[in-house]
Amino acid sequence: MFIDIAKIELKAGKGGDGAVAFRREKFEPSGGPFGGDGGNGGSIFFVADDSVTTLLDFRYKKHYKAENGQNGRTKKMFGKAGEDLYLKVPVGTLIKDFDTDTVMFDLRENGQEALVCKGGRGGRGNARFATSKRQAPRFAEPGTKGEEKTIKLEMKLIADVGLVGMPNVGKSSLLSIMSKARPKIANYHFTTLEPNLGVVDVGNHNSFVIADIPGLIEGASEGVGLGFDFLKHIERTKVLVHVLDVSGSEGRDPIEDYNIIRKEMLSYNLKIGDKREIIVANKMDIPGAEDGLEKLKKVFSDRLEDIIAISAATTDNIDGLKYKIYEAVQEANTNPQTFDEIYIPVEEEAEPDYTITKEDGAYIVTGPLIDNLVYRTNFEDHEALRHFQKVLTDKGVFEELKEKGIEENDTVIVGEMEFDYLG
Ligand code: GDP
Ligand code: MG
Repeated sequence: MFIDIAKIELKAGKGGDGAVAFRREKFEPSGGPFGGDGGNGGSIFFVADDSVTTLLDFRYKKHYKAENGQNGRTKKMFGKAGEDLYLKVPVGTLIKDFDTDTVMFDLRENGQEALVCKGGRGGRGNARFATSKRQAPRFAEPGTKGEEKTIKLEMKLIADVGLVGMPNVGKSSLLSIMSKARPKIANYHFTTLEPNLGVVDVGNHNSFVIADIPGLIEGASEGVGLGFDFLKHIERTKVLVHVLDVSGSEGRDPIEDYNIIRKEMLSYNLKIGDKREIIVANKMDIPGAEDGLEKLKKVFSDRLEDIIAISAATTDNIDGLKYKIYEAVQEANTNPQTFDEIYIPVEEEAEPDYTITKEDGAYIVTGPLIDNLVYRTNFEDHEALRHFQKVLTDKGVFEELKEKGIEENDTVIVGEMEFDYLG
């Protein structure tokens, strides 16, 4: 079943806790710290995959969870990292924040990946906190929580061309003769209830992708609640092919039909008005079609080059139509962006540069910034030491230490270095 929208909940894995453990060996009674780091929690990725054509699976299963990282263990053994979860979605799927409906990712190429929910970080074990003065730290870092998100998946087909028009004008017939797609064709309305895609070959290894879009008219009038739903599949197209039955075989007026469809599309989104539109006068094989075509030409006298008369039944002038569309696609040359306001996600909540904890009367400053800084600093060198202090000052470390109530001569542990605080 063709499902193009789903709401799901995601929970990335928690990072494992760092371990507190001590060496216990026969000849080392006062054994050193021996606790290993916790493993990182698993993350949740989405990947666009050609072989997936519907979001149906996400209607059945709505909760997804990546594995937690395991806790660190003694003997400095690392906890195993939680496994990442990869979820396949159709090419053309947007990943939106459910509450704000803003786009976080647009997966419009086969194989494209997005990290949507990041796993927590594993905590460091107590072995990492040993210093020359503090040989037996009795603490370790806890792992951090994984991200949790409620998202909306919304698939918007990727096609160069959208076939639009009233029911029964011959859209599906046209798709089937231009491409290898085999949509349902029937002499009654409302046959096409899902969009069909076809590749149209125009020779010389050139082709374009065309989508038969079930109109809102079909569903809305039948009360199956389609409404505007299918019109989203027009968004990414470069060219619209508006099919009319100029024979009036259904007792309809092609110009009135044109105006109705046009109005419906523009009320969905005015941006549709920016797309190049080719008007197909179909069913030319039926007597009376000539008159209909003449009328059409009169009304659209300023855009005669956009009108192509064909017969899907006899395939008359189908090649002409193919090349006309191909040319228009080449000229359009826009990227397959949707009408959504594309939201470039702000850098994920940045990990704090450092955190300060108080253990056993000492102040411990940890974090990626700190590790890096300590690693790079040559503490024998006066200049380097000054720089080190300046960075800590600029980052607000000393300020925070004061807020936390540090006093003269208290111990400060920065990464693997240990100092006495001189206020
Ligand atoms: P759609 O609802 O727009 O997809 O229309 P279909 O492709 O399902 O066609 C509706 C009916 O019109 C079917 O019975 C087709 O065989 C018929 N039809 C489509 N194109 C032509 C044409 O060029 N000439 C004639 N005589 N009949 C056509
Ligand atoms: Mg159809």
